[in-house]
Amino acid sequence: MKNKIIGITLCMLMILTTIPTVNCRELPTSSPLPSNSIQAVSSAPWKEQETQQIDQKVQEIIDKINETLIRNFMEHLVGEIGNRYTGTEGCENAATYISQQFQTMGLQSTYQNWSAKGNSLLSGYFHGRNVIGTQPGTNPDETIIFNAHYDTTKKTVGAVDDGSGTVGVLTAAAVLSQYTFKRTLEFVTFSGEEQGTLGSHAYARDLYDHHLPVLVEFNADMIGKATSTETGKTMRLQLTEDAGWIAGIMENITTEYDLNFTITRWQTIDREAKDGWSDYCQFTQLGYESVVVWPAEWDPNMHTIRDDLSNVNISYLVNMTRHIAATMAILADMDIGYPQLSIAHPRFGKIFVDDQEKMTYRYKTPILIGETTIQANVIPGSSPLEKVEFYSDNILLQTDTEGPYEYLLNSTSIGIHTIKVIASDTMGRNTTAEMKTLYLNRLKN
Ligand SMILES: [Zn+2]
Repeated sequence: MKNKIIGITLCMLMILTTIPTVNCRELPTSSPLPSNSIQAVSSAPWKEQETQQIDQKVQEIIDKINETLIRNFMEHLVGEIGNRYTGTEGCENAATYISQQFQTMGLQSTYQNWSAKGNSLLSGYFHGRNVIGTQPGTNPDETIIFNAHYDTTKKTVGAVDDGSGTVGVLTAAAVLSQYTFKRTLEFVTFSGEEQGTLGSHAYARDLYDHHLPVLVEFNADMIGKATSTETGKTMRLQLTEDAGWIAGIMENITTEYDLNFTITRWQTIDREAKDGWSDYCQFTQLGYESVVVWPAEWDPNMHTIRDDLSNVNISYLVNMTRHIAATMAILADMDIGYPQLSIAHPRFGKIFVDDQEKMTYRYKTPILIGETTIQANVIPGSSPLEKVEFYSDNILLQTDTEGPYEYLLNSTSIGIHTIKVIASDTMGRNTTAEMKTLYLNRLKN
């Protein structure tokens, strides 16, 4: 057994050096929002199933998010504190300020310290603090996360990037904290984003390692940029493949609460992409669902001295924040229609030998040595589950109609395989979970 493992391990290490590293970083110069790439994603069945009534609580939340609140946070964070380059006094002052605000709102405020090497464009180690404000739910089965990054590049006060997202998080927290919800809300601000999403890497890994169920992560970056009447009423969403029904809630809100935005489903997030444009990629690479909120136009002032308070469209930021906060409020109380699904075993970022977790390593692709059980964690939605299917490289391996939902992977393999699980309910709604693995298994007798 041991010799076999050593042999396989050597082989594994040779292959390992060829696994592409999946890094995220905000693209420093090119536009993440080329207007010619707007694509409508086909509409999902949510429209029939998830329509909302006007809800007094949601209407109040929308009304309470106003310019006074937004301006106040913006003036402190961007006007008074100014530059927030990770590791500087400005960045630390911003963390302290955000934490004080969370405490004032009655949230549980915690810091998460991190240190990490910068991305390929930057040398050296960076250190920082993420600031987390938690609002516990009354029946906290899943958490809803809203995050932005409070750090900036050098020589800018980062009003739009990402003072606007951070102010959005603070404002949503200030208003939502006045209400109670079934699900837990987590308001998170990261540093180290500009060095390669370093703070969010630490946060998402920690979240994942604590097995905390997350319904969705909202990422807001540069949500205060609009210079025309048209872009001032338009929002672009980047979504994971199963987050379409959440975008649907946002689309209903804009009509039913007279916000009258055009919401474009701009792009489906590629979980395996080498680069992401903001912190969301640290979540999506670990299998979480994400809704990334972008403005409708590119900001030529990004990362320059011109990204100051005059660069922010305050009323646009108010409305962008209203959409996110109202969606969170609805999600936090509603009965979820779609089944929820995750791969419980194996785990991203781990090495398994004969089905036992042996160690954590830096890459997210799990290494599976020997027979491995694929276990799906399924929470039914509003309709009964019909089936759970297991696939490897799009070949159907097994269909389960009742739990436990698991499949023993014991074929001969040395290579990369993508495990996919699809849960379907009797209404025909499906949810998918995928995991790219390096799977090494000996010949069977
Ligand atoms: Zn940014």
